[in-house]
Amino acid sequence: MLPVMCINALVGRPNTMAAQQKIVGVKGMNDLLPDQSGLWEWVEARVSEVFRQYGYRAIRTPILEPTALFVRGIGEVTDIVEKEMYTFTDALNGEQLTLRPENTAAVVRSVIEHNLLYDGPKRLWYVGPMFRHERPQRGRYRQFHQFGIEALGMPGPDIDGEQLVMIHRLWQSLRIDGDQAPRLELNSLGMLAERQAHRKALIEHFQSHASILDADAQRRLLTNPLRILDSKNPAMQPVIQSAPLLKDFLGDASRAHLDAVVETLERHGIAYTMNPRLVRGLDYYNLTVFEWVTDRLGAQGTICGGGRYDSLIEQMGGAPAPACGFAIGVERLIALLQEVAAPELPAALDVYVVHWGEASERAAMQVAEQCRSAGLRVQMHCGEASLKSQMKKADQSGAQCAVLMGEDERTQGVVTVKPLRAEGGLIQQDRVSMADAAAVICGLLKRRENKDG
Ligand code: ATP
Ligand code: MG
Repeated sequence: MLPVMCINALVGRPNTMAAQQKIVGVKGMNDLLPDQSGLWEWVEARVSEVFRQYGYRAIRTPILEPTALFVRGIGEVTDIVEKEMYTFTDALNGEQLTLRPENTAAVVRSVIEHNLLYDGPKRLWYVGPMFRHERPQRGRYRQFHQFGIEALGMPGPDIDGEQLVMIHRLWQSLRIDGDQAPRLELNSLGMLAERQAHRKALIEHFQSHASILDADAQRRLLTNPLRILDSKNPAMQPVIQSAPLLKDFLGDASRAHLDAVVETLERHGIAYTMNPRLVRGLDYYNLTVFEWVTDRLGAQGTICGGGRYDSLIEQMGGAPAPACGFAIGVERLIALLQEVAAPELPAALDVYVVHWGEASERAAMQVAEQCRSAGLRVQMHCGEASLKSQMKKADQSGAQCAVLMGEDERTQGVVTVKPLRAEGGLIQQDRVSMADAAAVICGLLKRRENKDG
């Protein structure tokens, strides 16, 4: 253990009580506060349920990974690896570590390490925080969250199509309908030889416009010209728009793969746009790539991005196996919900228990436990307070009803059940026996639920 003096020196704090400065959170990393967490939980529950409906099983990998994993997986000449990773040396053993900027490379690492594909393909899903050192703005944070899917060992195009149908179902399950839903943009990055031929044409094109290229593009011209197409620099858009398109280099097999995905979309009535300039910001993609985009969130409109990455597993040291996946940005998805379709969330609390008098508190706690055993969400008032102030707290709590236990109730072995929400016309205030209280409240709430549809 470090002596206190040492710790103070480490955190740059004079060893006096006077310097009690407020410490604030890291820039671009947000707290999720209780008034928002209900919506997050609602979204998480729906998304994970849809994933399970398609046979996906959860995987959880660490937030920290060896830096080499992302450099090799995502590609050295990408925005993420060049400028966005939180990388540091572990002071205790000198290891180079990185806070994960995305999770595909980590899932692939885990799948190889545990030989998960030994008995056939796997469908995996995850949710969790990712870290990128970006300029914080709306929809772009330094810690953000992703839901993700990885289908490993399946060559497609059936699984590619199924994933798009699943994402479409997800929007519906979140009640984002019609033109409020993100729209699908689709492209094919073809196969290696096709990308190489395209790359040659790209380099020639950009070389003939060398004076317009910004510093990033000049640096990437010979290392990773495809990345130039991903540039957000407005001055470069004309030269990007006139660049040769990969679709003109696709062979028959690549075209057939894309056609099959498109056919699935059409069969399921899912609208899409072909975007021949969609390349995605990571190096591992081939064939199918897609993004789901909204116009309702300003510049940060990409809610979901993904595609096929058939060579990544082999590149990371595993036996060759094709794969396809995507990630959804949770903050952007929540922002879209708040913009267009914020759901009415179920009440966080069913019952607030009010009591007065010492012996009543014990009886009240007994009723509270009975209600919880019956599956109700119950908050028991803690501490001394007048009946009036407890009723005020009960009302503010959002609970559907209050259960009151005073001396009078206790001696008669009953509680008073008092409805707190006018809407739905729960019940009249009533006295019921302590033993029946839980069942009666469950029945009343159920009736209300049915009435609300
Ligand atoms: P962008 O083009 O907006 O930078 P990206 O191509 O870097 O996105 P991906 O790596 O494909 O994003 O990540 C998938 C999704 O994760 C994005 O579509 C977005 O919804 C979300 N996302 C990515 N970076 C951030 C961030 N810094 N803050 C919040 N969400 C993010
Ligand atoms: Mg980015």
